[in-house]
Amino acid sequence: AVPYDIGGVSISITASAGVSLFPMHGETIEVLINNAEAALEVAKKQHNRFALVNDDIIQEYVLGLSYQEELRIALRRGEFVAWFQPKFDRHGQIVGAEALARWMSPDRGLLPPCRFISTLERIGLIGELGYQIIEQALSFVRQVHEQGFTGFCVAVNASPCQFDDPEFLTQMAQVVERNGLAAGTLELEITESVIMNSDNFNYAVLEILDKLQALGLHISIDDFGTGTSSLTRLRGLSKYVDAIKIDKSLVDQIGVDNGGDAYFTAVLNLARSLDTPERKITFVIEGIETRTQADFLQRVAFSDIDLEFQGFYFAQPMPGEQLLELLAGQRSGV
Ligand code: C2E
Ligand code: CA
Ligand code: CA
Repeated sequence: AVPYDIGGVSISITASAGVSLFPMHGETIEVLINNAEAALEVAKKQHNRFALVNDDIIQEYVLGLSYQEELRIALRRGEFVAWFQPKFDRHGQIVGAEALARWMSPDRGLLPPCRFISTLERIGLIGELGYQIIEQALSFVRQVHEQGFTGFCVAVNASPCQFDDPEFLTQMAQVVERNGLAAGTLELEITESVIMNSDNFNYAVLEILDKLQALGLHISIDDFGTGTSSLTRLRGLSKYVDAIKIDKSLVDQIGVDNGGDAYFTAVLNLARSLDTPERKITFVIEGIETRTQADFLQRVAFSDIDLEFQGFYFAQPMPGEQLLELLAGQRSGV
């Protein structure tokens, strides 16, 4: 970092590194080096950094820039579909679902969000994806309500980029108006970083939250407990928050040892300090995978708060028709 003086000229040297890991990013030397080089391209753009290769980088740099173009076309063709992962109450009844985007590519097959979200964010098309997913989620919710499950709510994910997009609020207002939504039917999941990041925690974000709330949308804080929260800020925000989703990484600690259980309980206790009689907050426990975790949650109960459960132990994300069947089964007691 110290500049060299060479013949009276000060020369600074910076270094960039691209990293790929065995066996996650390749099982042969050629593939690993190729992928590390792709990561290096990304690192160089940001200067003096290192970058770890990921699926997106591989797509873009190893498989070609045409990937961006492919995504643009896929969006235009409507190849992205919303799948739904149900959320359950304490009694095992489905109370709602989270819409999760999937890309049904005729060439590549079914792809998860880690293969397209960050590229769409980078090329400014995440808002368009969000819009398409909301439309599908609302059409699904209408079907569910028509089957008689009138309390059913659907949650969609909002990218931090959408909060910087002046069109976002207008779009949301149109969605609400066109669909004549009852308040609370649509929930927006926002990661902690949108609200907690010091650059973002400003009047603009609060104003947007205020307007979304006025439209009757519910706001949920996603991935709670992953490290960026400031409790002081959360308190200031609590009047906008309808739900808090406790991150899977905390659920993963359950049953590992006593420390893990205590850690989970401590974070949930912190979160619930925001729950007041004036403002009831729902706590969604995410990423429950095992019987041990489910039993623990049943046992500790936290009977005084509104709890919901989401995770592979109960149900995976699935196409809308499949969730409708599950709901029908629930009604007939199956
Ligand atoms: P997220 O919002 O935290 O969503 C939860 C993710 O955890 C989903 O992954 C879900 O399939 C997965 N999951 C749920 N239960 C379990 C479990 O028990 N075990 C494990 N291992 N995983 C579980 P998915 O569908 O791959 O989505 C990943 C992320 O992509 C989401 O994380 C969300 O941040 C983003 N995403 C998905 N759809 C959209 C979208 O329409 N718009 C935006 N902006 N982001 C989206
Ligand atoms: Ca989410
Ligand atoms: Ca989450």
